[in-house]
Amino acid sequence: MTQAESADNGNRCWVVKLGSALLTDDGCGLRTEAIADWVAQMAQLRTRGLRFIIVSSGAIAEGRARLGWNLRRVSLHEQQAAAAVGQMGLIQAYESAFQGYGIHTAQILLTHDDVADRKRYLNARSALRTLLELGVVPIINENDSVATDEIRFGDNDSLAGLVANLAEADRLIILTDQPGLYDRDPREFPDARLIRTGQAGDPSLLECAGPGGTLGRGGMLTKLKAAETAAKSGTETVICSGLEAGVLLKIAAGEQTGTLLGVARSPLAARKQWLAGHNRPAGVLVLDDGACKVLAERGSSLLAVGVVSVQGEFNRGEIVSCTDRDGKEVARGLVNYDAGETRRIMGKSSDRIEELLGYVDDEELIHRDNMVVL
Ligand code: GLU
Repeated sequence: MTQAESADNGNRCWVVKLGSALLTDDGCGLRTEAIADWVAQMAQLRTRGLRFIIVSSGAIAEGRARLGWNLRRVSLHEQQAAAAVGQMGLIQAYESAFQGYGIHTAQILLTHDDVADRKRYLNARSALRTLLELGVVPIINENDSVATDEIRFGDNDSLAGLVANLAEADRLIILTDQPGLYDRDPREFPDARLIRTGQAGDPSLLECAGPGGTLGRGGMLTKLKAAETAAKSGTETVICSGLEAGVLLKIAAGEQTGTLLGVARSPLAARKQWLAGHNRPAGVLVLDDGACKVLAERGSSLLAVGVVSVQGEFNRGEIVSCTDRDGKEVARGLVNYDAGETRRIMGKSSDRIEELLGYVDDEELIHRDNMVVL
């Protein structure tokens, strides 16, 4: 690395996501030597000014191994218990590896609810920033033991994308057991080609992604979605093999490895990233073609007149998704009226809100400042 490159690394932050298949030997416990090797690379890069956040899977797989449940079918509650047992091993492995370099680590366990609520999102962001300023390496996982279906991210790829937003990271490195994204499933098609570069969010890439493996929850599809989320904070993503020797050092040295997914659009303002990062809006507003057009072309506020139907029950101030008539999501935002009120004023011009509801809270159904156009 040249001096110029190393100076350029000042305060740069990478989120490194490690998947279960990579971290555990086919469900037979953690690969501590491999962890020590990735940690050694990160410790070396930290001396050149890079900061790291690790998003690590492997808790359930390690817990299953510790409890002797490798081959057993386990219930949801047993999986939650396994996550609690395995998380100890996971943190222990990182903690002792980093301590060899005098580096402190910190554990953060999140559920989707922690980032859905604006206040808790801001709290998580400040805690993360403070830890980075203190020179600590945060190790993040989903809080699997308490996460029910309603509040879970579902897979650590999505979590890593959101963490990249929280930290406004420069890069998200998704380490997996595959060399990167192929144009077809390489297990089925020996002539499948590795895609070297692409743009995060490019729909043609989604066709290349097959389903996931058995240990972790994510496959290539969730990795591409994570890259799309990460791009919202201007974070580029590299999907590459954690099995490749010195992979992080190579990336830092500018060598090409795996699949690099660049950022096409300029980063969204932090508040809009938070809005875009939600994967569980409280309801849906279906918009007419005119409303879809003004939102996309002018980024205007959404008025009730543009809404043709309302799905779900939501309160004022909750996040709703806006779709076109075909169900394609076009925007997301904080709604100014609850679901019942919205049903009464939809399709009507804003100057009739008082007559219809008996009061006017806001002229707009969603104000442009509280909306992100997707
Ligand atoms: N959070 C889960 C675990 O630590 C893994 C989820 C995933 O692999 O995507 O076991």
